[in-house]
Amino acid sequence: MSSALIQQYLPGYPAHVHAQILHLHTQGQLQTYLQTRYPQPHTIQSDKALYDFCSALKQRYLKNAPLLDKVHFDNRLTIEKQTLGLNRAVSRVQGGKLKAKKEIRISAFFKNTPLAFLQMIVVHELAHLKERDHDKAFYQLCLHMEPNYMQYEFDCRVYLLSQVLASQLNSAAVEPI
Ligand SMILES: [Zn+2]
Repeated sequence: MSSALIQQYLPGYPAHVHAQILHLHTQGQLQTYLQTRYPQPHTIQSDKALYDFCSALKQRYLKNAPLLDKVHFDNRLTIEKQTLGLNRAVSRVQGGKLKAKKEIRISAFFKNTPLAFLQMIVVHELAHLKERDHDKAFYQLCLHMEPNYMQYEFDCRVYLLSQVLASQLNSAAVEPI
């Protein structure tokens, strides 16, 4: 069961990586691995704070991208749905002109993750302002904004996986046998 989850949460990674993560899990070391690498929580809890965080990154790296109209945490984006961030352009008519409003939504899940993972998902959604698909140009833009992007994305997947594995352990513990 753990192996299947590992493959589900880490698709596209080689078998030896899956084996390493399974090993850490069976040794009870998965949480330690994450806590050692990412001891730092963050204080970005409000939509206003999230907007400021996004805008600062956008101003620094994507000056020419369209302005962000709305940035907010969304409780409906969940791990179960495997959707952690969304972005969209809503077209509205304003003063006779068609104006695209740019909106970024980040799963409320990231309020309680290490800062690195919030940074990763924000960089991901910002990159979509310029690149639609998950292609080479997209990942180059992500790496431009965050040189550790690939490592953070991998570790964020491990983090999600560790939460699912831990909740399974907990529910197994309280269930009558
Ligand atoms: Zn994407």
